Amino acid sequence: PANSMEELVSLCKRRGFIFQGSEIYGGLQGFYDYGPLGVELKNNIKAAWWRANVYERDDMEGLDSSIIMHRMVLRHSGHEATFSDPMVDNKKNNKRYRLDHLVKDQKADVIEKVAAGIGEDASNFPAVVAALIKQPAKASEVLKAAGVRDAFSGEVGDWTEPKPFNMMFKTTIGPVADEESYGYLRPETAQGIFTNFKNVVDSTSRRLPFGIAQIGKAFRNEITPRNFIFRVRELEQMEIEFFCVPGTDEDWHQHWLDKRLAWWEAQGIPRSKIEILDVPPEDLAHYSKRTYDLMYDYPTLGHEEIEGIANRSDYDLGSHTKSQSELNLVATVSENNDSIARLTIPHPDTNKPVVPFVIEPSAGVDRALLAVLSEAFTKETLENGNERIVLKFKPHLAPIKVAVIPLARNREEITTVAKAIKTELQGLGLGRVLYEDSGNIGKAYRRHDEVGTPYCVTVDFDTIGQNESGDAALKGTVTVRDRDTLAQERVKISELAGWIREKLR
Ligand code: ATP
Repeated sequence: PANSMEELVSLCKRRGFIFQGSEIYGGLQGFYDYGPLGVELKNNIKAAWWRANVYERDDMEGLDSSIIMHRMVLRHSGHEATFSDPMVDNKKNNKRYRLDHLVKDQKADVIEKVAAGIGEDASNFPAVVAALIKQPAKASEVLKAAGVRDAFSGEVGDWTEPKPFNMMFKTTIGPVADEESYGYLRPETAQGIFTNFKNVVDSTSRRLPFGIAQIGKAFRNEITPRNFIFRVRELEQMEIEFFCVPGTDEDWHQHWLDKRLAWWEAQGIPRSKIEILDVPPEDLAHYSKRTYDLMYDYPTLGHEEIEGIANRSDYDLGSHTKSQSELNLVATVSENNDSIARLTIPHPDTNKPVVPFVIEPSAGVDRALLAVLSEAFTKETLENGNERIVLKFKPHLAPIKVAVIPLARNREEITTVAKAIKTELQGLGLGRVLYEDSGNIGKAYRRHDEVGTPYCVTVDFDTIGQNESGDAALKGTVTVRDRDTLAQERVKISELAGWIREKLR
């Protein structure tokens, strides 16, 4: 695995996985572009998630809902009122910080002073932050007295009172900008699932329990985007809302925790690198009955959230439904006089309408990609003393599946065979196959190690029966080089497609 984030950032840029957004105009903070290899890796991760969670189950449906949502959706979901992070400004240079990030980044003795000042124990960091938010005037004094430093200037800051900063991007809809014509870019894909609950039930005749899966962009105006693609303002999520009978929710929560851990393992993230955080009740989001955060051990950052698996009770459908008072909701919801739909489904035993409970596994695509890259990253010293960087992706995630290399790019007998092999292997539908004639063979191998191509197929003079000292039996065969073992094997062209298909399965 990678030792540092820096190592990954530099490889990503060098090999075309990820670029800074709007780079030619100096970049835009919190936005990244996925390059030729990044888009393949990202698509492969999303496809693996979709396969496991939609195709390989019998209780799931898919959805692709719109990014811009009616403001009522995000009002009744609770986002307008509560989707905010605590922000403090440094009055000396007008720089803003997310309060918890600011404090977390201080030296240990400063964190101790902040904790003591606000009357909490430094070992319970969330409690320290919660106390600072609760007592803003005191918080400002405590931050100053503790000597909290500004990350930009490095100097002790003059801190304002923390106040909530809503992270939703707002936009105008239609040609007239007035009081009523605004909407939001969704801050999570989940709300599109809740608002389509009835549509999906009515069009598929689903009964409980069942789930809806969605992959798509979400937008959060993060106060301090940082750590490469870990915290961005335009992100992508892979989310499931699993609807179940109230009372069965705890079992389903456990089911999804197990399933999701197994999925991460199948993507090359060992179980030992993920800690399960059973989020303490006082830190739970307003909708959550219980949440497990999966904390992956990122290089440089340490354990940070890669996925949250929440038991959202009947909060969401209960918030978006009409006739709330008739539905015996368990969650505390605010009054909804705007919805025109009754979001219930027949209870499988009694047939009486019920608002289901929801289990939500919500993973970030960008954070997944960073973890997959980090685990795949390997630095090896070869027998001849040379060092190589190799990305040991699981084959189904590799951006390029096979590189086909003609040993001499000007010999038509060789290039014709190589091109025909490329076309045949591409036709297997396994993903990208590259015709690679851009340099000498050693360089090609090194480049493909660095981007994680599992197999390089070389067409040489033996292949076309023209190696003077050669072995006639090698005619019609190619060399296949294995990325991880470096073993080279002669395979008959006639058997190559089957061989590759078997290996990449
Ligand atoms: P954090 O505490 O790190 O801000 P969160 O608890 O707000 O994250 P959720 O609202 O639970 O995150 O979102 C679900 C998932 O979406 C996260 O587990 C993460 O993988 C991803 N995600 C959330 N915010 C971002 C972001 N700014 N950049 C990249 N991925 C994100």
